[in-house]
Amino acid sequence: MGLIEQKQHFSVNLLDWYMINRRDLPWRRHNNPYFTWVSEIMLQQTRVDTVIPYFNRFIGNFPTVQALAEAPEEDVLKNWEGLGYYSRARNLQAAARQVMELHGGEIPQDKQAVFALKGVGPYTAGAILSIAFNQPQPAVDGNVMRVLSRYFLIDEDIMKGSTRVLMEELAGELIPEGRARDFNQALMELGALVCTPKAPHCLTCPVMEQCSGRIAGRELTLPVKTKAKPPRPEQRLVAIVEGRGAHRGRVLVRQRPESGLLARMWELPHVLAEPPAKASKKAAPLADEPAMALLAGSLWAEGFAARPEGLATHAEHVFSHIVWQLQVYKCTEQSQSSELPLIAAEARAAYDAQAATTDAATTAPDGQSASAFSTSDQAERKLTDDADVLGDAPQIHIGKGDQLTYRWIGPEDMDKMAFPNIFLKLLSSYFAGIYDDINE
Ligand code: SF4
Repeated sequence: MGLIEQKQHFSVNLLDWYMINRRDLPWRRHNNPYFTWVSEIMLQQTRVDTVIPYFNRFIGNFPTVQALAEAPEEDVLKNWEGLGYYSRARNLQAAARQVMELHGGEIPQDKQAVFALKGVGPYTAGAILSIAFNQPQPAVDGNVMRVLSRYFLIDEDIMKGSTRVLMEELAGELIPEGRARDFNQALMELGALVCTPKAPHCLTCPVMEQCSGRIAGRELTLPVKTKAKPPRPEQRLVAIVEGRGAHRGRVLVRQRPESGLLARMWELPHVLAEPPAKASKKAAPLADEPAMALLAGSLWAEGFAARPEGLATHAEHVFSHIVWQLQVYKCTEQSQSSELPLIAAEARAAYDAQAATTDAATTAPDGQSASAFSTSDQAERKLTDDADVLGDAPQIHIGKGDQLTYRWIGPEDMDKMAFPNIFLKLLSSYFAGIYDDINE
């Protein structure tokens, strides 16, 4: 069988299989371009089973492009909480505003216009245009490249841009006339259900007869993919600062800066434990005593007097490029006293001592500088003693000009603010009393 027949076999058999075996997914029940768009953004890096409840809740709360465009960002992030990769949510909302301003609230059908929307890359543009508007545009992601690599026995590295271009051309040629919507979803469905990464189900595959990879016994060695660099470990010290007096029953949280990793999300205060190190160095836990001194000094530099009482727990959070290894300490709020600058100075000394032994670079991997721990950098504290500061958050400056906002929160505030998953878990555990034994 020649290449033309092999392509025909693929397209015809795959479509027939899909029309019988397609999953009933909430975004497939309507040909609504907005639903397609939201689902495709959510499905990036995330499994279908995980996405379904998020999708239903998100569409329930933001049923139209206009509703999403007009929503407070905090509400959008709250609805995304737990899905991770939060820049997707921020970009989605920014793009919804673009659609309102530039296209009168209608998702454009023009390739360039779709591609110009924030957060929309070649795959998502192809998915929107084909699934929502039945345009013959390829939608090629890692799953599709895996299927095509195997079926057509393509040995090119799928991490290369040139391979993606080749795959997009091939995927475009395979789309049967007038069937782009179903065909692209069929291809995605085959990658998700049958031609899976580690254990492809070749015996039940609708295109197995002409699959060159299977015939050559290469189904487990394809696609060719150079390994991505493993994420760099970072040891971080986290403070659960328990309030006293007017803040009793509350915990200190801060909002991350306007841009960068987890922008504008809320978190427990934390600081890099290791001295600024080269990216290849392995992070190691810091002993409790210097860790607590460093944490107290860091909090002081941020404008808060707090005494670490002991280790509450360890936790880990994996990003695509970094792994945060967290040592979490329970701390109690202190009144400002002459003792705390000494703790801060001690922290700086501990930090410098470690730095001297590590062949350290002068700048930390995340851009923080050692000066963040200096008492001379202590921010002017503007936080009032008002226990309920949710509506009127103060702002202070630390480090390299980052502007951070702090709040004292109780369990009732957890529903109103967006936290990355790791801090959501830590705070939920704290409010559930799980770390209560530390001071006993
Ligand atoms: S026969 Fe096997 S390797 Fe080929 S496309 Fe089907 S599942 Fe994938």
